[in-house]
Amino acid sequence: MSDGRGTTAVDVLIVGAGFAGIGMGIQLIRRGRDSFVIIEQADDVGGTWRDNRYPGVSCDIPSHLYSFSFRPNPEWSRVFAEGREIHAYLRACVREEGLDDHLRLNCALSQAQWNEDDARWLVRTTRGDFSAASLVIATGRLSEPKVPLIKNLDAFGGRWWHSARWNAKVSLVGKRIGLVGTGASAIQILPRLATEASEVVVFQRSAPYVLPRGDREYSREEMERFAADPGTVTALRDELFAEAERNIGARQRRHPDIDLLRQRALDHLTGSVHDAGLRGLLTPEYEIGCKRILFSDDYYAALQFGHVRLEPTPLNRIADGSGGKRVAVAAGGNSYALDVLVLATGFNSTRPSIAGHIRGRQSRLLADEWSNGMAAHASTTVHGFPNMYVLDGPNAALGHNSAIYMIETQVGYVLGALDHLAASGADALDVTSEAVHSYMRDIDEMAQDTVWVQGGCTSWYRDERTGRVTLLWPDSATSFRERLATFVPASYEHLLRRRR
Ligand SMILES: Cc1cc2nc3c(=O)[nH]c(=O)nc-3n(C[C@H](O)[C@H](O)[C@H](O)COP(=O)(O)OP(=O)(O)OC[C@H]3O[C@@H](n4cnc5c(N)ncnc54)[C@H](O)[C@@H]3O)c2cc1C
Repeated sequence: MSDGRGTTAVDVLIVGAGFAGIGMGIQLIRRGRDSFVIIEQADDVGGTWRDNRYPGVSCDIPSHLYSFSFRPNPEWSRVFAEGREIHAYLRACVREEGLDDHLRLNCALSQAQWNEDDARWLVRTTRGDFSAASLVIATGRLSEPKVPLIKNLDAFGGRWWHSARWNAKVSLVGKRIGLVGTGASAIQILPRLATEASEVVVFQRSAPYVLPRGDREYSREEMERFAADPGTVTALRDELFAEAERNIGARQRRHPDIDLLRQRALDHLTGSVHDAGLRGLLTPEYEIGCKRILFSDDYYAALQFGHVRLEPTPLNRIADGSGGKRVAVAAGGNSYALDVLVLATGFNSTRPSIAGHIRGRQSRLLADEWSNGMAAHASTTVHGFPNMYVLDGPNAALGHNSAIYMIETQVGYVLGALDHLAASGADALDVTSEAVHSYMRDIDEMAQDTVWVQGGCTSWYRDERTGRVTLLWPDSATSFRERLATFVPASYEHLLRRRR
């Protein structure tokens, strides 16, 4: 609905069409709430699974768990689906749930401003203005590629790109490739890259813990059984969830859980890498779980190919080599002549750029509110930003279970807030600063004895400015759902619009 000045008015405006934005949209439609749009800056839906197109990209939580509980998919082709299959699943969700009419693609949020007078958000986008009673931020936490400081990178004679912006136009056959990073993306990339390249150098800042993955295709019979009896899919999902959930004990440094998990990873290393020198370089120097635990059955094997070399220090700079050729120089001093650099170096996760574009009450910028790190009540609402909900943002990620379970939990919380708002007679809900502080105190307390704080590593789960755990929910997925199960109005100031 347009107001004649070209501003489209909706009840809810969702920013981002990844799992979170799509999940929110589906639940609004299913509840008969038709007045909403999803704006998406790219030309397609899918978020993570649209952007990450590197060879070998796939989920590392089993697909039957890494999908919406309300849209089970009996046709997952394998235990850990590849990125394009997950992307296709999300597109099917959009199409089949009737979201197309609500989608505005190529539409980036430029600025959102809370207007006290009419208690609404004015949202300026690259495709026009919107006025929304509620604003849902679903812009993801692993969506802004991080390029580390590599001195003179621009002088690198060859091509380079980030893993989340894969350049498929450049053939890697016969090329000398530097793979920078040894995190979740890098260990999926290496085995595929190694089959094409003439030489690969893997630049490692710290060794990851790697567990066996156990991926396999589902047989036709299994898929037919899943399709014929939806109860079998639910049962499998429940089983996978319970299995993942058991791993929280290790993250909380409970014994023997953490000892058993560490041993499994070290056994995998010992069983896969026979050279003691290489094994030493691949042995992590921090506690298991402090950084994301990785899953692979072919990473260690690929590292032992004759044309693959592990450089145990990070890529530091590009310099002039002999004959005027540029070389990539590692922090340890070794230099390598390379044709292509692939930066599998992760994402800016603790300081989301969207926060620089959202102004709440008294025009306060969200980035200023979060200048000491992200903080939100119920991992979802921020004081001074009424009727705004952040999905998959502060303290909503997990190290041991599915992000989709967390997103669904938050979507349920937002629906509770919207229902309460409609019933309350108020125009807006602003979470109190006491509620935010009390929640953050609980987070700090829960995090205190976990591997994320005590494990002796730096990781993207923690804010680099304060060391606080700001990305993760530092407990079980079940406890997150319990905590957010009921929307508690007492945590919110109820606001009325000024212009009546
Ligand atoms: C390679 C990879 C593998 C992963 N595997 C797993 C896994 O196995 N299990 C797991 O639990 N998690 C995994 N994750 C985490 C994953 O990011 C989440 O599971 C989930 O996909 C996040 O969904 P989202 O909707 O919150 O964010 P995203 O998928 O990042 O979507 C955010 C969307 O917002 C859009 N957007 C951003 N800014 C704006 C703006 N200003 N205006 C308009 N639109 C905007 C983006 O274009 C994007 O489409 C993985 C992440 C990566 C990178």
